[in-house]
Amino acid sequence: MPDAPIFEPGAFRLTPLEARLTEQAREFGAAVLAPRAAQWDRDASFPTANYRDMAANGLLGICIPGDQGGLGADYRAYALTAAEMGRYCGATALTWNMHVCSTLWSGPLSDDLEMEAETRAGHLRRRAMHYDRILSRGAIYAQPFSEGGAAAAGGVAFGTTARRVPGGYVVNGKKIFASLAGHADYYGVLCTETREGSDVLSRRDTLYLAIPRDAAGVRVEGDWDPLGMRGTVSRNLVFQDVFVEEDAALMPPGLYFQAAIRWPHMFMTLSPTYMGLAQAAYDFTVAYLRGEWPGMPPVKRRMYPTKQIAVAEMRVMLEQTKALWFQAVTEARPDPTKEQVLRAWAAQHTVMENAAALAAKAVRTCGGQAMLKTLPLERIYRDARCGSLMLPWTAELCIDRIGRDALYEKGETDE
Ligand SMILES: Cc1cc2nc3c(=O)[nH]c(=O)nc-3n(C[C@H](O)[C@H](O)[C@H](O)COP(=O)(O)OP(=O)(O)OC[C@H]3O[C@@H](n4cnc5c(N)ncnc54)[C@H](O)[C@@H]3O)c2cc1C
Repeated sequence: MPDAPIFEPGAFRLTPLEARLTEQAREFGAAVLAPRAAQWDRDASFPTANYRDMAANGLLGICIPGDQGGLGADYRAYALTAAEMGRYCGATALTWNMHVCSTLWSGPLSDDLEMEAETRAGHLRRRAMHYDRILSRGAIYAQPFSEGGAAAAGGVAFGTTARRVPGGYVVNGKKIFASLAGHADYYGVLCTETREGSDVLSRRDTLYLAIPRDAAGVRVEGDWDPLGMRGTVSRNLVFQDVFVEEDAALMPPGLYFQAAIRWPHMFMTLSPTYMGLAQAAYDFTVAYLRGEWPGMPPVKRRMYPTKQIAVAEMRVMLEQTKALWFQAVTEARPDPTKEQVLRAWAAQHTVMENAAALAAKAVRTCGGQAMLKTLPLERIYRDARCGSLMLPWTAELCIDRIGRDALYEKGETDE
């Protein structure tokens, strides 16, 4: 029997496009992603075969506008679809998010932002070129922003720099934890444009440049053998005097800074993967306790009251997680209210922490045989553990910001 939707289209009043895309992701996830997931996890290898199939079925272009050949998903349609993908393979969904952001941020999100007419015309021309690479050649984009300092948390400017030269930029710097390293065709690097005669870097000068993987001076380094999300292959990237053309820009100068301030839900797009993992932990537990997990002896464990209580508690936590997350992704928009931003942080925190908690409870409830490597639960458990560590909205940073903004209005101090 096919899995029930995480968000049933009628009950959650999904749009026809959302209903279609989530169904496509669920079918694709169950048929293609799930059977391959253990392999990427075991070998810490990149899910290349999944990307080939996603290029063929249009999912690489999910957020590319319909009139440019994409599937035309907006923020919420993408988030709901990504949750269904995450249910079946966390690493594929998480890396797919990095790729999709290059189109979501340059596409539907940029359309909401202010630009001079000439700037917008240039942006539309450039993004059409990026979109064509994705749609006609299956090009994959990564999104390395982490540097190991305070920049990825949004505190200071990125230390990776871009110096303007005739025809483009010269990029220097290092990114850590760059998912898809060595496997993406373009690295969508967040970096800071330097100013002539000044060595002060400003977040206002952030650029988002798609650097070709084979550009001179690009190097992948370090090994990759982590606890979870092993198929993301998040190795380090070094850029040494890398020249990129002006057209490499995924957003015009200044637009990323505007987006970070006016469209804060842009930083919540890592959460759908973990919404899917939370659902997967619950689904596994129900199927396992009913004695219905494929390949396992049909031993029922559902008659014990402790199991029933555990499943009930998991269900309560899952419903709470879904409700808050659905509300927050529904509210994603330019210039959200303070209440909406507080809710987005609360939703991100809830999904990331609850996915890990649900997976841990699933292991304890199902028991020893359920954590064998032949079953998906132990992978879900390890993958789910990674969610609350993802910058810029780690679980800790969400708590920091909620506490501060709930108690202080803008500009207030205790002096
Ligand atoms: C599986 C996986 C895939 C990833 N893929 C990518 C990717 O594709 N691209 C990318 O750019 N990054 C990626 N990351 C990196 C991720 O977003 C974080 O940047 C990384 O996990 C930070 O690790 P760190 O040890 O350097 O954190 P640190 O910066 O040392 O922070 C440790 C913790 O301290 C807290 N903290 C950090 N800064 C502050 C602050 N200013 N104030 C208060 N508290 C703070 C946070 O809660 C954080 O979790 C990935 C991470 C994982 C686990």
